[in-house]
Amino acid sequence: MQIRTGIGYDLHRIAADRPLVLGGVKVSAPFGLAGHSDADCVLHALCDSLLGAVGADDIGTYFPDTDPANAGADSRRFVRHALEMVRARGYRISNVDCVIMAERPRLGPLKPAIRESIEGMLELPEGSVGVKAKTGEEVGAIGRGEAIAAMVTVLLIRD
Ligand code: MG
Repeated sequence: MQIRTGIGYDLHRIAADRPLVLGGVKVSAPFGLAGHSDADCVLHALCDSLLGAVGADDIGTYFPDTDPANAGADSRRFVRHALEMVRARGYRISNVDCVIMAERPRLGPLKPAIRESIEGMLELPEGSVGVKAKTGEEVGAIGRGEAIAAMVTVLLIRD
């Protein structure tokens, strides 16, 4: 059996008049995240963890923000592409673990929905995805509410 791990990280700036989508879940907030696509930093970090685990390039290479086709894109499309690359190499996902860093909105109540969303798009059984919410303790860009970031790790298995 072969085992591979991957890590992904992403950060997007807070912006007015933008949607806030985290882990594929639309979040009700008076602001959103700036970005070329839907700016879902959780799914972007997830993509990079999957791509990195199979030694592929990063999300910006496959879905550049200079490509008009990616403008306003639903980031679940990027995840499906990364998942196909994982499967094409004969791997399956054992588990995914996510840390989402946001001062606001408070993400605690959203964790179950984000977990279910990611398990659904990766076609994983319940209990395969961990989601943790952290604040920035009022320091740094995240703590001042200027940005939201996410870190994701994945474990892949090939029998
Ligand atoms: Mg991004």
